[in-house]
Amino acid sequence: MDQPITDQLKGELARWRLLFCCEDCLHHCEARQACDLLYPEEPHRRASFERGERLVFCKMFEVR
Ligand code: SF4
Repeated sequence: MDQPITDQLKGELARWRLLFCCEDCLHHCEARQACDLLYPEEPHRRASFERGERLVFCKMFEVR
């Protein structure tokens, strides 16, 4: 999923406390700061979301 970050989306993410970044994913390795499935994390990291204009949701995301 790749969609623009709107005020409505930000509100819904906060209201429902939705998790969607690599830092919240079961496959994110803290020690290596990398994805155990070898996917590129940069588009899905929290920092990318916070400075970006689009939310890019990883289809392999699994909440930890
Ligand atoms: S599976 Fe996707 S969301 Fe999870 S750590 Fe890897 S790149 Fe990030």
